[in-house]
Amino acid sequence: MSLTGAYDPANIFAKILRGEIPSAKVWEDENILAFMDVFPQSEGHVLVIHKTSTAQNLLEISPEHLAQLTAAVQRTARAVTAALSPEGFSIMQFNGEAGGQTVFHLHFHVIPRWSDRALKGHGHAPMADTETLKALAGRIAAALD
Ligand code: AMP
Repeated sequence: MSLTGAYDPANIFAKILRGEIPSAKVWEDENILAFMDVFPQSEGHVLVIHKTSTAQNLLEISPEHLAQLTAAVQRTARAVTAALSPEGFSIMQFNGEAGGQTVFHLHFHVIPRWSDRALKGHGHAPMADTETLKALAGRIAAALD
């Protein structure tokens, strides 16, 4: 998938937004959904997406929607940090297949980091157990401002 072309409403995040497949939700409001990555690169890896924007990548989103999304990324990172006490965190965002993107609904990764734990590779991490993800989502949600 290149940087251009039409938004595919059958992408997996669109299906999550429509409730067609489950997710371990951390928080949501009328604009935003934050949920656990099922192939976490570290414990507590959260994805943050806009609910109404159909931007596939950073180039396509409106400034208004991007402002909502980045504020949501910050809110999520604060909660992840408060809940899990990482030593740091990484915000990742990939654009186009050549840029490492695999799901073509714009999203930001919030990935907690610890100096003694190796980061699992993007697209190479094992699938996490659903109950483990739900428990982490609950801990992070409980730490939201
Ligand atoms: P990217 O490669 O930046 O497009 O990121 C897509 C992310 O979505 C990857 O980190 C995947 O592990 C994650 N992912 C794929 N399917 C699901 C799903 N059903 N629920 C949650 N995360 C998913």
